[in-house]
Amino acid sequence: MSSILTYIAIADGKVKRSSLEVLSHSKKLADAAGFTTEAVIIDPNASNYVEDVQKYGASKIYLVEDALFSEHRNSPLLSALAKIVETVDPKVTAFASTEGTKDILGALAANQKAAVVADVSSFELIDGGIKATRPVMAAKILANVEAKGNKVLVSVRSGSYDLNESPATAEVISVDAGVSEGDLKAKLREIISSTSDTIDLNEAESIVAAGRGVKDDEGKALISELAGVLNAGIGASRALTESGMYDPSLQIGQTGKVVSPQLYIAVGISGAIQHVAGMANSKVIVAINKDPDAPIFEVADYGIVGDLYKVLPPFIEELKKIKT
Ligand SMILES: Cc1cc2nc3c(=O)[nH]c(=O)nc-3n(C[C@H](O)[C@H](O)[C@H](O)COP(=O)(O)OP(=O)(O)OC[C@H]3O[C@@H](n4cnc5c(N)ncnc54)[C@H](O)[C@@H]3O)c2cc1C
Repeated sequence: MSSILTYIAIADGKVKRSSLEVLSHSKKLADAAGFTTEAVIIDPNASNYVEDVQKYGASKIYLVEDALFSEHRNSPLLSALAKIVETVDPKVTAFASTEGTKDILGALAANQKAAVVADVSSFELIDGGIKATRPVMAAKILANVEAKGNKVLVSVRSGSYDLNESPATAEVISVDAGVSEGDLKAKLREIISSTSDTIDLNEAESIVAAGRGVKDDEGKALISELAGVLNAGIGASRALTESGMYDPSLQIGQTGKVVSPQLYIAVGISGAIQHVAGMANSKVIVAINKDPDAPIFEVADYGIVGDLYKVLPPFIEELKKIKT
């Protein structure tokens, strides 16, 4: 029987939410097509995540459990994935569009002579492959693309699909990575994190983003407090990453991160096209800006026209009250 195989990414001891979103969608497509829903976990503690993954409907879970995968390294990951794709022979192999996926997808496609579409916002099965929608040109244009072939790979932007639990009892199959430390030509010495921010913006359910309207430490403290109350990640416009007020890794937009959280609060951000390109896919957008004509209100679901220094303190207090 044909299958859709989803690669489950693990980070910081947790299954990435974006992988489960892809698995939820794959399950829906597989059920409609009479395919099986399968998943692969590649991690030193892969078996720890079986329970999470079968909750989303995988009926077969392949585990590559090896200390080699304690850090992201493209060469062993590529070998393990190539082996799995050859063994399982799925109709489609689906990935969340994470940094790790970006690092290996092209190489895996070349290695497997597979058709590949990267960074799509939706995909469906068609005869001989998939059709997908892919935001291009800073998300100004949605390209409809097709990938056909014996092997098809697709990566999906986070936030494109909702999580949908559909518990199954999975058959768990252990697979040997087929590669050992001695086979690797490159050694990973150290990973230097560029930011101390602990919430990964690509995975964050909520993001509070600061723009040039946030002028000083007082404004920055308000942003941090709001993010703290909402357990949100902090992002910034290019105006504030270029000024050095926020780390460049927190920049959202065309030349920064593309995010799609459930809630995006833009504070003192005008809504330039290059910024909107990175956040327009958010589920609910709230904008706080003193200029009623700011373009950010065109993409916002809720808008507050006012001075952020006056709006945020009572806003934060109200949220705290609701939380308690
Ligand atoms: C090739 C290229 C790539 C780019 N890539 C990116 C990118 O990835 N990400 C990105 O963000 N930008 C990017 N830019 C820059 C982009 O064009 C804008 O210049 C930038 O987004 C503006 O940031 P901003 O909205 O914070 O600042 P501004 O445009 O200056 O807007 C500040 C806003 O704050 C409001 N404001 C001021 N004071 C207050 C207050 N007290 N209370 C409430 N509101 C207030 C103002 O009304 C205004 O709307 C790129 C530009 C180029 C040319």
